[in-house]
Amino acid sequence: MLSKKLQDIQNQAQKEINEATTLEALYQVKVRFLGKQGELTLIMKDMGGLSKEERPAFGKLVNEVKQAVTTLHDEKESQLARVEMDKKLSEEELDLTLPGPYLPNGSEHLIAKVMNEIVDILARVGFSVRTGPLIETDFYNFTALNIPADHPSRDMQDTFYIDGEHVLRTHTSPIQIRTMQTEKPPIRILAPGGVFRHDYDASHSPHFHQIEALLVDKNVSMADLKGTISYFIREFFGKNIKTRFRPSFFPFTEPSAEVDCSCPLCQGKGCKMCKHTGWIEIGGSGLVHPNVFKAAGLDPEEWQGFAFGFGIERMAIIKYGVSDIRLFMENDTRFLEQFK
Ligand SMILES: [Zn+2]
Repeated sequence: MLSKKLQDIQNQAQKEINEATTLEALYQVKVRFLGKQGELTLIMKDMGGLSKEERPAFGKLVNEVKQAVTTLHDEKESQLARVEMDKKLSEEELDLTLPGPYLPNGSEHLIAKVMNEIVDILARVGFSVRTGPLIETDFYNFTALNIPADHPSRDMQDTFYIDGEHVLRTHTSPIQIRTMQTEKPPIRILAPGGVFRHDYDASHSPHFHQIEALLVDKNVSMADLKGTISYFIREFFGKNIKTRFRPSFFPFTEPSAEVDCSCPLCQGKGCKMCKHTGWIEIGGSGLVHPNVFKAAGLDPEEWQGFAFGFGIERMAIIKYGVSDIRLFMENDTRFLEQFK
């Protein structure tokens, strides 16, 4: 009677194992027949009705059935695991023809772009780039440039002092001094880079960029300076843009001149950018002051030179019509993308 029941359990277990189509279903079958409360476990408790002699044989029989069911279960389990893995692999197959994720391309910042444009134009007439430290000594930033101790540009209001002797450079002119100290004339260099002044509004940033040009040679005159700047303006803003020089004063040049160009926006007719004058001020220039040559260790009787400088942000604002200098610093990609 009990053997018949055992046989029925075995048949039922085998049937259910064979019919299981998922690992989850198979697990439920395992619990029902082989678990602690499973039918093949519970049947051992029914052995009370058997004689002492019959019990060992029946116990052995139950274990054999358990073993057979377990073996069948394990085979089915590995078979189902294989099927499920194959299914997963085919569903998650890597499709190499699918388009990749969109990664936006970066672009040159407008300041770098304008700086490179200026360098390229002046490189064509023999100028090459030199660089220098952002933290300068008082000597290179002021004294060597003929800026006396009481000059307003030394004021704490304009200059970031690191200590009594060091400043964040307020212009790239220290590079000119360093070059004249270490290279023999003739010299034709460009000094581009970041500079720092204590100023912040729509048209001033405490960190902005300049490019300066320095030429040192024999018999250099204002005519050479004007010719070089006029060439540059035409190349940078356009062939029909005029250049104008107005007498001015800078400590490091003598004579000195402000450089204006006819407004590229309105072609000189007058607009908001040029304050309806038709002219835009773009930088300073002049012949190198003898005191600057002396400070750099060159004989002003033997050498002459010219220098000029532009603000990169200002050049970018004029050429590309940027309304606020702070846009350069805000890293808004909508602004930056326009100049790709
Ligand atoms: Zn204008």
